[in-house]
Amino acid sequence: MNIGILALQGDFSKHKEAIEAVGHRALLVKDEATLNQCDKLIIPGGESTTQLLLIDKLGLRDPLINFGRSKAIMGTCAGLILLGTTREHLPAEPLKLIEIEVKRNAYGRQVNSFIDTVHLNLDGDEIDFEGVFIRAPKIMSIGKNVRELGRHRDEIVMAANERILVATFHPELTEDYRIHRYFIEKIGS
Ligand code: GLN
Repeated sequence: MNIGILALQGDFSKHKEAIEAVGHRALLVKDEATLNQCDKLIIPGGESTTQLLLIDKLGLRDPLINFGRSKAIMGTCAGLILLGTTREHLPAEPLKLIEIEVKRNAYGRQVNSFIDTVHLNLDGDEIDFEGVFIRAPKIMSIGKNVRELGRHRDEIVMAANERILVATFHPELTEDYRIHRYFIEKIGS
């Protein structure tokens, strides 16, 4: 499969490594023509404000929204913020492809970044996963079409609707590719 990775800003190269490690082709997406060659897309972590400004500057907002209406997208950390429904502290509306209310930088500053085990339930498959949280957002609430896929303590840290998968942490920063595999094999297909 051709898995696109939005490569405007942030840690897209780690997602590229993960996609190649699980045997798929990774395309770095900076324009609509490349997006059109992709079967699925990843929006990486980084700085959601910068990524959103670049999306609008490069005319990618409508192409991304249209992509997400028929194909699967995974957003990690800043990518989750862009896919959610909360505008607060963003320079423009997010893409609103998944009904989640989000709070940016909800654990505090950079020094409050941490690694801890998260508990996932991937369609009945219960696993522990190393969650890398870097100035992470929190999911404050999920809509009725959204299902919870993982928790850290009392917090929902991973969720999905039919085509959109989001995580507040960074699965690409571990060498455990189960979440990437789950996205490719199970979401939107
Ligand atoms: N704090 C960043 C933001 O609000 C997200 C951090 C990340 O992607 N690791 O955009």
